[in-house]
Amino acid sequence: MLNKLYTRLEEIYPDIIAIRRDFHMYPELSFKEVRTPQKIAEFHSKLGLEVRTGVGGRGVVATLRGARPGKTVALRADFDALPIQDEKDVEYKSKVPGVMHACGHDAHTATMLGLAKALSGMRENIQGNIVFIHQFAEELAPGGAISMVEDGCLDGVDVIFGTHFLANLPTGKIGYREGAIMAAADRFEIEVIGRGGHGAAPHETIDSIIIGSQLVNNLQQIVSRRIDPTKPAVVTVGQFNAGDAFNIIAEKAKIIGTVRTFDEKIRNNINQMIEQITAATCQAYGATYKYTYEYGYPVVQNNSIETRILVESAKKVIKEDDLFEIDLRMGGEDFAYYLHKVPGTFFFTGAGNKEAGVDYPLHHPKFNIDEKAMLVAAKVLGTVALDYLQG
Ligand code: MN
Repeated sequence: MLNKLYTRLEEIYPDIIAIRRDFHMYPELSFKEVRTPQKIAEFHSKLGLEVRTGVGGRGVVATLRGARPGKTVALRADFDALPIQDEKDVEYKSKVPGVMHACGHDAHTATMLGLAKALSGMRENIQGNIVFIHQFAEELAPGGAISMVEDGCLDGVDVIFGTHFLANLPTGKIGYREGAIMAAADRFEIEVIGRGGHGAAPHETIDSIIIGSQLVNNLQQIVSRRIDPTKPAVVTVGQFNAGDAFNIIAEKAKIIGTVRTFDEKIRNNINQMIEQITAATCQAYGATYKYTYEYGYPVVQNNSIETRILVESAKKVIKEDDLFEIDLRMGGEDFAYYLHKVPGTFFFTGAGNKEAGVDYPLHHPKFNIDEKAMLVAAKVLGTVALDYLQG
């Protein structure tokens, strides 16, 4: 049966490339996806799958029922793009100014559609159901997953698998991990409120830029001095906005950043430490502040049994040497929410080809994938789904 799947996928591979390039040319931002879910729904409908649109907002869920009843396995692909200008020199470059599939979600989607097409011709061989979850808005908290789960996309589902391409990992490699694999990703925002005034009369003001600068430095001591060094954590300030003119002392400074952790207690502690340091730094210079901390995606916590099933299935597709335990990644993923509801595993599929210049990191304006990786991912996802249903 697996050989039949692989043969069909190889036949379908040119379609997968065409689908991916089409999505690549017409990327859509998180929570603004219209064309993409429409195309996805049409594709599944033509295959004769049961299709639900508008799931949790803009999601699409397609169900393939095998000839005989059995368990239900879900596969998930996200389909949103990023506010980045495409700087690649390829014929299928983004046609939307300032918007780009710089995280490979176009390829995740094309892979799933190709796999659905291959499997839809094999119903007689399938015992159980395969649910294709096409998720909108992965890139922007609160994300699409949580509302799709609330809207029942996992009803009747026994297990879920999902993958993400990485172009700085060569095609043919698969990285898996039991337990935590991706970090909790939060956002904090601080407004330092001083007193504005003339640049030549600093003694009459409270300079929010000076206080904010000290604050940025002080925040860097949370991870370096106050968190157990054996526990991974990141505090990054990504935005610092203040001032309107060279000769005016800025009344307000806004500091926005992200916190990445793997431990709920450390996560909460860092939130408290940021506020404590903000309060103390501002107080020392007579400023006040506003502080907000938004909890984003939780840790992606893979289940052991399902990860081992994936490993065994992947060995049928790639060489055992190309399968490896991947390091913890500090990025966030709302795949975490599916795993709160059903067991499963999230893994990484190599999609890099250094010789061809395809090895840029995710979210880079020149990010691209080696399209052959879609065939690898389709085979691995198809294999794990069929193995699970038969097991
Ligand atoms: Mn992504």
